[in-house]
Amino acid sequence: MILLGLGANLPGRAGAPADTLDFAVACMRAAGITVARRSSWVASTPWGVLGQPAFVNGVVAIEAHVPPEALLTRCQRIERLAGRRRGRRWGARVLDIDILDWHGVIRRGCSRLILPHPEIAARAFVLEPLREIAPRWHHPLNGLTPVQMLNRVRAREGRVSGPAGSAVG
Ligand code: ADP
Ligand code: MG
Repeated sequence: MILLGLGANLPGRAGAPADTLDFAVACMRAAGITVARRSSWVASTPWGVLGQPAFVNGVVAIEAHVPPEALLTRCQRIERLAGRRRGRRWGARVLDIDILDWHGVIRRGCSRLILPHPEIAARAFVLEPLREIAPRWHHPLNGLTPVQMLNRVRAREGRVSGPAGSAVG
């Protein structure tokens, strides 16, 4: 299984952030990538850098018969098509596409492509949509499902339950 995380919090060529995520899915299909499943797009509060517009996030499960580096290059091309310019890390962006998991492959020590994506277990806005489309998926390193990781995140945040955000599309 290949899982991609999508995020946007600035308007771009396709429109508002939720439109940008729709645009990203359309671009993937046009590039020959099979988008097998698509989560709801969920609005969430910014992470990492405060004082920026709310994010819209989602996850897609895809099939693509290319190596992970080539997939990353295609994803970065779609980010540019949507109007992204490279800026501050974790800052506001038109579109961010991360490779969350590429067939369970583990790759560390290469900053261009780290697999699985290092932040999955800590980010409720990734885990919520993952739970929706891949509830039985297991993290290649810690062996946990999305729900198990969500429970850990919430225990750390001191919250018992509650959604990470609200569905927008
Ligand atoms: P962010 O960390 O906020 O997603 P960027 O999208 O600017 O920031 O990504 C910075 C760099 O992270 C990219 O240039 C890319 O080479 C690298 N990277 C490493 N692992 C991954 C991954 N699994 N998915 C996407 N990008 C990755
Ligand atoms: Mg990224």
